[in-house]
Amino acid sequence: MTAIKNVENKHILITGGASGIGAATAILVASRGAKVVVSDRNTQQGEAVVKQICDAGGTATFIAADVSDVDSVAALFSHAKAIYGPVNVAINNAGIDHTPTPMHLVDDAVFHKNVAVNLAGVWYCMKQEIIQMLENGGGHVINIASVAGLHSAPSIAAYSATKHAVMGLTKSAAVEYAKANIRVNAVCPSFIRTPMVENVLAHVDERVRNAMIKANPMKRLGEVHEIAAALAWLCSDESSFMTGQSVVLDGGMLA
Ligand code: NAP
Repeated sequence: MTAIKNVENKHILITGGASGIGAATAILVASRGAKVVVSDRNTQQGEAVVKQICDAGGTATFIAADVSDVDSVAALFSHAKAIYGPVNVAINNAGIDHTPTPMHLVDDAVFHKNVAVNLAGVWYCMKQEIIQMLENGGGHVINIASVAGLHSAPSIAAYSATKHAVMGLTKSAAVEYAKANIRVNAVCPSFIRTPMVENVLAHVDERVRNAMIKANPMKRLGEVHEIAAALAWLCSDESSFMTGQSVVLDGGMLA
């Protein structure tokens, strides 16, 4: 059987690429011929993902960056460009959540931290990505939002607010830059089995845990390979007529 090579030689940069959805996607697109920059604040895990890719014959580099720090993001994109040229596809995936808590009891610092990473982080990255894509005649920005960016998410209001904001950035930038051949889309997963979700499941009681796992008609968590597969398609030119939209991967939760 011929291996799929529909992202061959594309420079794909993934933030939060050391873990969960980001790591699975980095490994998949590298196996399909992309040159991948894995970025994360977690150097040890990020370098392990890059080693796995290179050991399998792929091309990848790790660059440490904190997406909530504007200077760190600028350095990331200048370093990435120096290695593989302008970014063709950027996946803004780095994110944090917070412990489910009634909104009036959520510490303001938790709210501000969610805004700093999930919203300002995407904002800083998108600006750098658009600059490189304008210079290069086009590209594709893919933001990882969430079903919590499309509908209510009781107990995680701060997280949900940042993901709604990411949807706003996605749609506005898509319309603003369509003429420049830059596409902007989002992916909105429901609960996916990653360290982020495993951590939440470990800290809630059994009733909430079961409700989270069975929150969709399929009555199960999503798996990272199911999100990575959709992202790999988005990274390819097969998604060329899609912009300003979200791919909802939720086991039917929002149906
Ligand atoms: P994950 O396994 O925790 O991976 C996220 C990665 O991002 C981690 O390596 C994390 O490092 C890194 N990171 C966090 N803050 C960062 C920062 N300021 N700068 C750079 N890297 C940073 O999470 P995941 O579940 O794969 O989530 C990936 C994305 O999908 C997130 O945006 C999340 O909101 C979204 N999402 C996830 C789900 C789900 O159910 N899993 C559902 C909907 C949306 P540390 O380990 O050091 O924190």
